[in-house]
Amino acid sequence: MLLKASCQCQKIRYELETDLYYPYMICYCSICRKTNGAPFGVNIKGDLDNLKIINGKDYIKTYSAKDCERHFCSKCGSPLYITDHRWPDGIWPNAASIDTALPKPPEYQQIFLDDQVPWFKPDIPGKKFSGYPKWSIDEYHQHLKNSNLDNETNNNEI
Ligand SMILES: [Zn+2]
Ligand SMILES: [Zn+2]
Repeated sequence: MLLKASCQCQKIRYELETDLYYPYMICYCSICRKTNGAPFGVNIKGDLDNLKIINGKDYIKTYSAKDCERHFCSKCGSPLYITDHRWPDGIWPNAASIDTALPKPPEYQQIFLDDQVPWFKPDIPGKKFSGYPKWSIDEYHQHLKNSNLDNETNNNEI
């Protein structure tokens, strides 16, 4: 799926071709919360080779938090995507930066629940983890392909 993305002020636009596009992982860790200015963050995944900066390259600044490089717009502050030197081939776009309509995930996972703020504890069905999840994003998408979870979940939708 070709994803088109941008920051809020539209100086930066980027594109990414990826098969790992379900925005299913809701992360409450303090880094996601602070860098998103929100009670959680949602990232998807792709290959760094497939990233195309369409415009605004000069506005992109990076901030290192632990092992991750967080890339954001220096004009409007919008978080764009993450890279990680431990997995140098990957890129983790902030799902909220994507303008292309992403599919609703058949199943959510909430991670780093130990770091959740007391004023935002939504009732979201799916798997819950106190810290890191059991599966990587790649494994989750592989699981979806194998189990055809899409169809199973659609049948039960209200
Ligand atoms: Zn911007
Ligand atoms: Zn996080």
